[in-house]
Amino acid sequence: MSRTQRLIFELSVPGRTAVTLPAPEVPTPSLEAMFPSSALRAKAPGLPEVSEVDVVRHFVNLSQLNHSVDNGFYPLGSCTMKYNPKVNEDAARLPGFARIHPDQPADTVQGALEIMYKLERYLCEIAGMSRFTLQPAAGAHGELTGLLLIKAYHDSRADFGRKVVLVPDSAHGTNPASAAGVGMTILEVKSDSRGNVDIEDLKDKIGPEVAAMMLTNPNTLGLFDEHVTEIAEIVHGCGALLYYDGANLNAIMGRTRPGDLGFDVVHLNVHKTFSTPHGGGGPGAGPVGVKPILEPFLPTPLVALDPETGMYVWDDDRPQSIGRVHSFHGNFGVLVKTFAYIRSMGPDGLRKASEHAVLNANYIMRRLKPYYDVAFDRTCMHECVLTAKKYKSEYGVATLDIAKRLLDFGFHAPTIYFPLIVPEALMIEPTETESRETLDGFINAMIQISEEAKAEPEKVKSAPHTTPVSRLDDTLAARKPVLRHTKSESD
Ligand SMILES: *Cc1c(COP(=O)(O)O)cnc(C)c1O
Repeated sequence: MSRTQRLIFELSVPGRTAVTLPAPEVPTPSLEAMFPSSALRAKAPGLPEVSEVDVVRHFVNLSQLNHSVDNGFYPLGSCTMKYNPKVNEDAARLPGFARIHPDQPADTVQGALEIMYKLERYLCEIAGMSRFTLQPAAGAHGELTGLLLIKAYHDSRADFGRKVVLVPDSAHGTNPASAAGVGMTILEVKSDSRGNVDIEDLKDKIGPEVAAMMLTNPNTLGLFDEHVTEIAEIVHGCGALLYYDGANLNAIMGRTRPGDLGFDVVHLNVHKTFSTPHGGGGPGAGPVGVKPILEPFLPTPLVALDPETGMYVWDDDRPQSIGRVHSFHGNFGVLVKTFAYIRSMGPDGLRKASEHAVLNANYIMRRLKPYYDVAFDRTCMHECVLTAKKYKSEYGVATLDIAKRLLDFGFHAPTIYFPLIVPEALMIEPTETESRETLDGFINAMIQISEEAKAEPEKVKSAPHTTPVSRLDDTLAARKPVLRHTKSESD
């Protein structure tokens, strides 16, 4: 029996119940005596009548319909779906972290402040920055915060004419969206034939109206920009600042630092690089690090160590601050998980993680190269971008079909149709936490699909065949989601 068949929704049987409450020991007034009649239901709500075991099986079966990093390989490019070690969860659930209130006086929550203080120092060391704010809730939120800092910096110098943000054509969609969010105009910079920023195009577009350039390195093609220091010189040469989208830090952690490459401000996606759960398992955090020139503008409060008392204190005496970007102190539980990850890995562990992430991506790229064309044929970093263009033109099998067919093998699909500059793109990010056996299993599935695309294209085009739901109309599913199985009159 398939999982779908087991999942019967209509389980209600009149009179069946999961609990039997004891009769009250004290007299209770009637509902009519307690509430105005206008607030009372005319008839019972029509809830399902089910036993406890029915409820448990129903929800356990439902939970197993989802793919997750805890039950399978999840090579979703640019998302760094690495395994989330359970020790992080244990740490975040300690009552001293989980059961405190953000409004408690600082002297009663010294442990929490110490975690934030030390985490800030670790992130500074890893990214080559001088200070970090831990408030932003995600990467995109970090981008917004970083751009507000850049704006505050130019304003503080009465340099009001800088209204343009340069964004490469390979950038993640959040980059232009964040720039638009702070009222900037976006100017796109082209990529060259090796997948780097096109230096000539950059020189054409840079000018006194440019506030910043946003760069991901390695970029979303999984390629390290070979001219990054030259880019920094060009950008700084005209008085603009350089923003590092740190979503891809997993490729370079422990090997090089955005600060050393010339970046002025960086956000890190701790839910990617530092293994705190994201996607359905979120929330994440997007701390933002800066060089000294941007420190005065950081959101308040920051954690400081009072040298006289040896106590951690909130520092909100920062007159040039852009103010808060999150209620209280950000997603504190996520910061505890980040701290636990960094401490359990140690400096050597973090460096090894990025080395293995890069090795795994190159292994997949090399082994799949005879079957799928590589978008830019050079050593990749933590992810590789392939294209299924030839299968589309020769057999009518598109990237979407290949991604759907992968689901039948129990794998999550890679990111597809992104980056936008690669037609029929498949962007594969294995991460360091996957074994050789898992990588081989995925590679074999991809090879089998490439053979099916030639011999029996219909099989690929009609996939998936074994999942709880088959091919969906994605647009219709997003626009008109069916979120319930029946309509009940009582609602
Ligand atoms: C994931 C990602 C972002 C956005 O981060 P969120 O935490 O999802 O907001 C930005 N840039 C790149 C390159 C990314 O991969």
